[in-house]
Amino acid sequence: MNNYAQRVSSRLQERYENEKDYLQTVQAWLEMISPAIDGNPEYEKQDLITRMVEPERMVSFLVPWQDDSGCYHTSHGYRVQFNSAIGPYKGGLRFHPALNGGTAKFLGFEQTYKNALSGLPIGGASGGADFDPNGKSNREIMRFCQSFMTALYRYIGADIDVPAGDIGVGTREIGYLYGEYKRLTGRAESGAITGKGLTYGGSKVRQDAAGFGAVYFLARMVEQHGDTLQGKRIVVSGFGNMALGACRKAAELGAKVITLSGPDGYVYDAEGIMTDEKFECIMQMRASGADQVQPYAERFGVPFFADKKPWEVPAEIVMPCAIENEIDQEDALRILKNGTKYYVEAANMPATNEAIQLLRVTPQICCAGSKAAGSGGVIVSALEMAQNSLRYSWSQAEVDARLRCTMHTIYDASKLAAEKYDLGYDLIAGNNIAAFERIAKAMLAQGM
Ligand code: GLU
Repeated sequence: MNNYAQRVSSRLQERYENEKDYLQTVQAWLEMISPAIDGNPEYEKQDLITRMVEPERMVSFLVPWQDDSGCYHTSHGYRVQFNSAIGPYKGGLRFHPALNGGTAKFLGFEQTYKNALSGLPIGGASGGADFDPNGKSNREIMRFCQSFMTALYRYIGADIDVPAGDIGVGTREIGYLYGEYKRLTGRAESGAITGKGLTYGGSKVRQDAAGFGAVYFLARMVEQHGDTLQGKRIVVSGFGNMALGACRKAAELGAKVITLSGPDGYVYDAEGIMTDEKFECIMQMRASGADQVQPYAERFGVPFFADKKPWEVPAEIVMPCAIENEIDQEDALRILKNGTKYYVEAANMPATNEAIQLLRVTPQICCAGSKAAGSGGVIVSALEMAQNSLRYSWSQAEVDARLRCTMHTIYDASKLAAEKYDLGYDLIAGNNIAAFERIAKAMLAQGM
């Protein structure tokens, strides 16, 4: 690691010892971008890296809410405004019981570099609350979202910080959040939040965007290897919007997703999840709030493996679409043993540090990280902001074509950056360096 990067890393270690995901991610990042730091003394002179690894601003707030039986609850809300060098802060809100300030910070860091790589004018942010939407009534969700926005609204805005959805926050929640924002500010400021419904300023494709984007990235990668997606099997985890989008786009491009997973286990559908009936079933399982994937197996008569992860199923392609750290070293070894050729991260940091290092150094498998392949969601969010500014909306085909083109550009930029620093075909190092250099240039240009 570059000496200056090493000093930044030790200072962070002292400050954030309890925030494992954030620390490990930033330290691995420092290692990866070291060749670029070596090449430019200005970064150290202006102490630029210190200003890139911590959030510019972070707010935390209490979110009191009442359930349907009249009981009082207090959740904890966060918004991490990580970096605004190339545009207003931008990133998702997650409602999940495990969310805390450390996770929000990790997600804000990831989002910053993911957004920069897209080439669109957006900074990076993240946030959410430790609230569990599963099993809550519609009215409880609405009250929670309203209370959350009462605390958050003063920190966001179309030119300040633009939240969107993430795990536990979908179109319904965005609707309640935006409605409350409008009531509080008295402004129909549609660019202040993305992931909106189509009836009030949302963009076509937004719901499927993360899954579509990852499959477009994959398609570019496969094509560059003189290979084709035709007939390929894809192991996917999760069963939310990201997984569903991946199923749909894979089917359209001739491949097939053969697994889905939930906290209860995974299902294996050898024929592929390719029909409208199957897509509909996934949406129903999601809407039921039970957070279980087993009903799919019962409905279509396919095997269900309780409490297991899908990584044991052999396939040419693995595409995690759920949550952080769901692939450990043992899973990574299994993926390699199965002869997998392409590993494409749609979710944020799905593999532990040890697991991704292992996959990255094995020539048999081509790896793409979430800061590149997982950008589909935020790209369509930025396209939603563009449409809101234009007071216009593009067709499904137009948004989809722009998404595809941006994913291909991201692939090319990652490959090029790896080549520039003699790192061979290390797309993960390449995407980190390319994104880093974009933000570094913008920060230097704007002064301290
Ligand atoms: N968390 C989401 C993502 O990165 C949404 C970000 C956004 O649309 O602002 O995919």
